[in-house]
Amino acid sequence: MTRIDFRQVRKRYAPGQPLTINDANIEIDSGEFCVFVGPSGCGKSTLLRMVAGLEDISGGDLLIGGQRVNDLPPAKRGVAMVFQSYALYPHMTVAENMAFGLRTLGADKAAIDRKIKAAADILQLTPLLERLPKALSGGQRQRVAIGRAIVKEPKVFLFDEPLSNLDAALRVQTRLEIARLHKDLGSASMIYVTHDQVEAMTLADKIVLLHAGKLIEERGSVAQVGSPMALYHRPTSRFVAEFIGSPKMNVLPARLLDAQADHAVVQLAGQPVRVAVDARHLAPNAQVQVGVRPEHVVLAGEGEGAALPVRLLHVERLGDASLLYVDGGAGVGTLTVRVEGAAAQAPGSRLALRLFPGQLHLFDDADQACRRTVELPA
Ligand code: ADP
Ligand code: MG
Repeated sequence: MTRIDFRQVRKRYAPGQPLTINDANIEIDSGEFCVFVGPSGCGKSTLLRMVAGLEDISGGDLLIGGQRVNDLPPAKRGVAMVFQSYALYPHMTVAENMAFGLRTLGADKAAIDRKIKAAADILQLTPLLERLPKALSGGQRQRVAIGRAIVKEPKVFLFDEPLSNLDAALRVQTRLEIARLHKDLGSASMIYVTHDQVEAMTLADKIVLLHAGKLIEERGSVAQVGSPMALYHRPTSRFVAEFIGSPKMNVLPARLLDAQADHAVVQLAGQPVRVAVDARHLAPNAQVQVGVRPEHVVLAGEGEGAALPVRLLHVERLGDASLLYVDGGAGVGTLTVRVEGAAAQAPGSRLALRLFPGQLHLFDDADQACRRTVELPA
């Protein structure tokens, strides 16, 4: 059983530099697939390299399987890491690349062969075992790098942006393979670093979203931890709300008219709009922000009553759906709306948008979210 605990973990690369990791408290359960995600430079690789033992820890405690490992050398931690750059030996075959780490540990040949065979089976590398890396595609090379981690039979797998060098189709395929690997390996815990929120949403049991932070104290700190659906439906801040989901959430300025335990009414573009949140802590007349995802805005049909009037600026047709970029006028600005199918409307058309109370988010003037009061998936 291998849980991983970050307790008040800090990292400062050099004296006088700001903290790269600021009091990180993260709990990763045994067997869990945990994804560290966030903008470039927020400290994801730093956190991962601290687990691997490749970076010193400046403060706090890091525990693997309940044991404090701050001072334990990498080879004794029971972890294996897969990098974006594959890092294969070019003059060694696939089999030799996978065997190398085990040989240096002094494992016997029969055991090494058995482990390579099993890993090659899982990763469909059996026909490629005698090839050199230069005769492999990018996806195959990354599978070899994963195979090299599997044969070590680690308790914890660490992945640092392993799909970033692959083209779009291979990224999806390898993503599925990594998800299957996690199922097949059952008890192994995985920490997976990516800047791509789609990878985080599709792979994670638990997402740890890190701040890039405009403020020093925000840098390298945890913005929210939770399941993919929790971060999508219940973001606790505007930062999380805008990071998760594509295209990103629209955020519109509004003023609070009425604040109740189960709903608020705000003035948005001159109209009263109801939002299903607990708004009791907000000050009367407070400046607030209404968030709505592009997929939750609906074009109003005729005779449906009050709706937000907008002008269509531009249409992107994706085949299955279209993205409409619309102008809501002064105080509202540009919004993105996702509609099913190929939109027929031409730029310049006048449209009206309907917003539903249960689909809206409400943020205060410090970008913190109000708790939503509709029933939402976990
Ligand atoms: P991410 O993986 O999220 O893109 P990193 O963990 O690589 O971010 O880096 C986080 C911050 O720490 C960045 O500002 C980066 O410049 C800094 N950093 C990373 N490695 C070093 C290093 N060896 N020395 C000094 N600063 C570093
Ligand atoms: Mg990185």
